[in-house]
Amino acid sequence: LSEFHKPGENPQVKPELKEEHLAFTKGMVHTRFPPEPNGYLHIGHVKAIMIDFGYAKFHGGRTYLRFDDTNPEAEEGRYFQSILETVRWLGFEPWKITYSSDNFDQLHKWAVELTRRGKAYVCTCSAEKMKADRGMGKGHPVACEHRDRPVEDSLREFERMKNGEYPEQGAALRMKMDLTSGNPYMWDMVAYRVKMAPHHRTGDKWKIYPTYDFTHCLCDSIENISHSLCTVEFIPARESYEWLCDALEVYKARQYEFARLNLQGTFLSKRKIAKLVQKKLVKDWDDPRLYTIIALRRRGIPPGALLSFVSELGVTTSESVTEIKKFESTIRSYLEESAPRLMMVLNPIKLVIENVPDDYRVPVQVPLHPKVPSMGTVETSFTKEVYIDAEDFREIDSPDYFRLAPGKSVGLFKAPYPVTCTSYTKDPTTGQITEIKCKLEDSGTVKKAKAYIQWVNVPDSIKIEQVRYFKPLFKSDPPPSDFESDINPESLEVFDNAVVEPAFYELARKAITDARKESEIRTIKAKSEFASSPSPSDESDSDKKVE
Ligand code: ATP
Ligand code: MG
Ligand code: MG
Repeated sequence: LSEFHKPGENPQVKPELKEEHLAFTKGMVHTRFPPEPNGYLHIGHVKAIMIDFGYAKFHGGRTYLRFDDTNPEAEEGRYFQSILETVRWLGFEPWKITYSSDNFDQLHKWAVELTRRGKAYVCTCSAEKMKADRGMGKGHPVACEHRDRPVEDSLREFERMKNGEYPEQGAALRMKMDLTSGNPYMWDMVAYRVKMAPHHRTGDKWKIYPTYDFTHCLCDSIENISHSLCTVEFIPARESYEWLCDALEVYKARQYEFARLNLQGTFLSKRKIAKLVQKKLVKDWDDPRLYTIIALRRRGIPPGALLSFVSELGVTTSESVTEIKKFESTIRSYLEESAPRLMMVLNPIKLVIENVPDDYRVPVQVPLHPKVPSMGTVETSFTKEVYIDAEDFREIDSPDYFRLAPGKSVGLFKAPYPVTCTSYTKDPTTGQITEIKCKLEDSGTVKKAKAYIQWVNVPDSIKIEQVRYFKPLFKSDPPPSDFESDINPESLEVFDNAVVEPAFYELARKAITDARKESEIRTIKAKSEFASSPSPSDESDSDKKVE
């Protein structure tokens, strides 16, 4: 970031445009975060948000949240709202919320002006012909017969495109760039195409929509962006970005690039995630196997942990893939000091202590955190019958095994004495252990336990309807391009019999209530934001479960 130009000293601003630009920005840094509202944001966007908002914030500047809504088919109202909520959840507040579509009139005027200047033309070649002419990968592009048509022709045909006289793909306005350039982004990129789909904000006013390449730099220009920050795949696009601003002689922002965030074993692309959701390969956009921000939030990851993960990665221009292990260890160490520990048994087996009376009940204080006493303790009772996890018992003992087995002792976490297994019963048909009998070593006969296991007392236990345990979504790493056939069938494991102690339930309920309240406030705020400006249709799901 130190290589960016200084605030107020954008080297690309032509002297004749400088005054106007500075009058607007007063020399302040102006950035924008420009998501396309075609899905929910993912962890890669956290990086973009931190850089866009963080850079401006550091310099006392301003950041726009700009919805890049030039593609009517893919956009839905709920995405707009969720994007705003997510930006705020991460702790950033947009200076202004704008839409590329706010500028459709101006962009259209500029397209006409570009055509008038002989720098754009209407092309009616088929998509295949256009692709072949552009030579994609096979040498230099060739001009089509429309490239040198008279300006008047192009102006007339562009007007006809606008009036809906061409079908979709029937015509395009192309920029007349440089076919001799080595950069494919200079090969007469499309500026406008015909689309009949109604638009979220402009309804059916337009039959033509500007492309990303035409829109982005000009919206940056309109908003007086000083630093246009984007990911490295846009490096070759910088030339066309600048070409267009120069062709129209308008204010031009300076583009800087940073490396995308990539995570091992998954992909970060709204389009691909949308496909998984549509095909029901995951439950929804907040499925915990995804790396969307709403999924991470649902997993209980606080915003600070995500910010800390991204800032540890740093900002460079070299592409890399970050290991999931690294992600998880950062989150874990962020939560280490603040997350309470409570006992849960996923696969319960009843353990009966034979040498105590039926009404045996000893209060036990269990610390919420082994190393943070200030977090306090919860009280539970140690009783004659407790549940332990099936994983903590083995029928056949071995010297390197320290948990429970016939004749062996183990500690029950924070219980007064260890227990020793005296016998067990098994279901003859399924072979599953049904009950374990133990004796309580209450007179110091057994040395200190070698291991402690979790337990939940039977009389107070609360059964959890379903515990879902998630593993990587894909079998391969990285997932192949036909990722739909690579879904790991064991990526979701469901436990139907898990039990927890009452304190777990109380704490979880409180956490859920708090999270829900906070999320409702955020949703109401985001909703009212959209209500005060022409609103994208409201399909929000504010009542959606918070888990
Ligand atoms: P997707 O491919 O997921 O739809 P995109 O690349 O089209 O995402 P947008 O949501 O349209 O991105 O853009 C928002 C901003 O977020 C862009 O500036 C983009 O460069 C940035 N961005 C998107 N993905 C990542 C990522 N993995 N790492 C860093 N920045 C990203
Ligand atoms: Mg995009
Ligand atoms: Mg993309």
